[in-house]
Amino acid sequence: MEKKIKPTEKLRMLPAVDEVLRIRQIAALLTENPRSIIVKAVREALDSCRKLILKGEDIGSTNEQVLDEVVKITLNNILKLARPKLRPVINATGVVLHTNLGRALLGENARRAVQMAATGYTNLEMDLVTGKRGSRYAAVENILTELTGAEAALVVNNNASAVLLALGTLAGGKEVIVSRGQLVEIGGSFRIPDVMVQSGAILVEVGSTNKTYPSDYQRAITGETGLLLQVHTSNYRIVGFTRETTIAELVQLGQEYDLPVMSDLGSGFLVDLSHYGLPKEPTVQEVVAGGADVVTFSGDKLLGGPQAGIIVGRKKYIDLMKKNPLTRAVRIDKFTVAALEATLREYLEPELALKRIPTLRMLTADPEELERRAGSLAEELTAAVKDLADIGLEKGFSRVGGGAMPTAELPTTLITILPKYISLDELMKRLREHNPAMIGRARDDKLLLDVRTVQAGEEEIIIEAICNCLEGGA
Ligand SMILES: *Cc1c(COP(=O)(O)O)cnc(C)c1O
Repeated sequence: MEKKIKPTEKLRMLPAVDEVLRIRQIAALLTENPRSIIVKAVREALDSCRKLILKGEDIGSTNEQVLDEVVKITLNNILKLARPKLRPVINATGVVLHTNLGRALLGENARRAVQMAATGYTNLEMDLVTGKRGSRYAAVENILTELTGAEAALVVNNNASAVLLALGTLAGGKEVIVSRGQLVEIGGSFRIPDVMVQSGAILVEVGSTNKTYPSDYQRAITGETGLLLQVHTSNYRIVGFTRETTIAELVQLGQEYDLPVMSDLGSGFLVDLSHYGLPKEPTVQEVVAGGADVVTFSGDKLLGGPQAGIIVGRKKYIDLMKKNPLTRAVRIDKFTVAALEATLREYLEPELALKRIPTLRMLTADPEELERRAGSLAEELTAAVKDLADIGLEKGFSRVGGGAMPTAELPTTLITILPKYISLDELMKRLREHNPAMIGRARDDKLLLDVRTVQAGEEEIIIEAICNCLEGGA
């Protein structure tokens, strides 16, 4: 019979930080991890043990046993503290442009270009023909004008800064006329009225939420007007009794009153995806051909490239923007130039772009292929999880995400996982903390996995993660 030790006595059995640091397994980790991380891990382990002892829990009755427990917790802490905060996540939600998971994935050629720019020096700002200073935008400017039919192009940090730069340059101190139905808020507090204030332009709202006619814009035009703005309502839809003024109608007004017309497309894309069951939305080429003087869109939404704000349009306006000091503040880095050039090059062969750009590949995935992939993953999962969960299949829909095409429902096949011994919340928590992390969808008591956004080779990892997490955690 072991004699009962009081918690206060047990606290005295806890080792000193230095003693733990001298333990061979821990000392060995000092060669590949910063000392500060190891020390923090030991301190936190001692803290947790202290709490356990005070709660009356048994962490051993000899000095050796207590030390062993502290070492075990320390090693676990080191694993958590030493790993980077930005980690890979398996996206099994079926939301293709998942904003919280980093929006668009880059295709292979774009990834290679980033690697190239990261590994060696590049001609980022040197013209290799003349040996003189060149423009960092040269690599993407020509291909953007070729693909969109615009006279000139400029690329900045993101579409929010593109809109800010365009408004400030073309209409700073002047009035900008926008329909009340288009005063968009994009996630992360980008609101058209607020951006307008930042840019120094003055917002003039016209029309109503559901109907705005060309005559509404016309009546608002004064000597103070600097720009007519159309904002694509990318993340919501106004349906029913509606009337939007078309870009052609705005362009006609613009010509009549000698005012530039700008279209913020948000998610601008270069190929028409309506043949693949996606809603018909205007492409950048169509808006440029329709006469818009300036068009802005994101690089990492439906375009499927790196984060960037792309501005195309008339040379005289783009040249003015290039001279604006704000352009330097929101300029793109060399990795963006590399990834964007490679992504845009894919569009020279639109059929190939659909296969090579991950965003387009996922959006246009064949439902039968998704059904087959889901079926085979479900079969493997059923065998692997044994009696820990019920695995099933059901029809459902994937989403575009990223605030694009909010009403589009892409048919898919979902794998359903009903855990038998732990709650759904517990399973999802364990999967988030697993390495790599995994995110699915929750419905009722089931976890739903959509293979549309699962990348090649991730199936194995999913099976392992699900089994680990059903069994006992990360
Ligand atoms: C997404 C979006 C933006 C912001 O683009 P970011 O690239 O996220 O900065 C601006 N306007 C519209 C209409 C959008 O959809």
